[in-house]
Amino acid sequence: MDRGSARWVSMAVTGFGQLPVRQFRGVHHRYATIADMVSTFAWGDQKVYVAGHRGLVGSALVRALEAAGAGEVIGWSSAELDLRDRDATFDAISQARPDIVIDAAAKVGGIMANSTYPVEFLRDNALIQTNVMDAAHAIDVDRLLFLGSSCIYPRHATQPIRESSLMTGPLEPTNQAYAMAKISGIFYIEAHRTQYGRHWISAMPTNLYGPGDNFDLQSSHVLPAFIRRFHEAKVSGAASVTVWGTGAPRREFLHVDDLAAACLMLLEHYDSEQTINVGRGQDLPIRELAQTVADVVGFTGAIQWDASKPDGMPRKLLDTSRITELGWRPRISLRDGLASTYQWYLDTHA
Ligand code: GDP
Repeated sequence: MDRGSARWVSMAVTGFGQLPVRQFRGVHHRYATIADMVSTFAWGDQKVYVAGHRGLVGSALVRALEAAGAGEVIGWSSAELDLRDRDATFDAISQARPDIVIDAAAKVGGIMANSTYPVEFLRDNALIQTNVMDAAHAIDVDRLLFLGSSCIYPRHATQPIRESSLMTGPLEPTNQAYAMAKISGIFYIEAHRTQYGRHWISAMPTNLYGPGDNFDLQSSHVLPAFIRRFHEAKVSGAASVTVWGTGAPRREFLHVDDLAAACLMLLEHYDSEQTINVGRGQDLPIRELAQTVADVVGFTGAIQWDASKPDGMPRKLLDTSRITELGWRPRISLRDGLASTYQWYLDTHA
């Protein structure tokens, strides 16, 4: 491939205002308050590299950047650029010279994939994030957002989980390898701020879903797995569906378009070494999620639980006071988000 010519994902034309991103150089508060929320960010002037732009999160970021009028949004598919390859990553990023980098590239997966392949989950994620950040630093990118996950927090963290819970206890074993990589990413962001004065930030989203999700039953997360299992059972007329665990664990689900809006707001307004949670502020038992997805899909049979499969973390509800203080709110209800994601699944997979 010709890595010199980054693929153009969009070329939108309208911006928010007149001031350039260098505006951030003067901002040194712990975290911004609502009073700082006057948008002066000129997306129209920015060339933004979205690492992982074909994924669930990356594709939502591309949609949001287009809507915000980003001047240029670039990205490479994993076939075009393997971000585990340090030289190739340096070549691509140094030739494209983005103003802003959003690192949404990661090897991700649900409870089964995560616990079956700890070597790949630790190694690939550590390589990807280190290469992207080092390459961004080498060309003097001053604004970078690194995305992690709520699984970085200790298994028995006090709920809802505050950002300050990081590193206060042992991790959930089923996603420990992924969490270790992401925790080192957070510290790598902090290190660039401390050592080089970079205005880099990290955000920790809760469990995400939406168009572009992975519906493979072995490697997916629970929500797309439920959509697929219940849809296939409805179509085949099966009397029951068997799902994993006891159904007792509680999870929080955020539509990926809400996350993307949060990311743009954070790039505009947030400048702190402390990571920031992005969640809905509400969770539900997996058992209740199963019934809700079955209702949306129209599956009326029985739901059986295979307790020989792992439950994972008992609860993972994020405390979102820090981001809601900045004025961001999720807009998409779980019911609406499920309905549109099911429609996307029907349009693309069924
Ligand atoms: P986690 O949030 O890291 O634990 O990841 P998942 O989204 O994969 O799993 C969340 C919960 O859903 C766990 O308690 C799983 O055991 C449960 N679950 C039930 N059925 C399924 C399924 O078919 N696939 C997945 N991935 N999880 C399931």
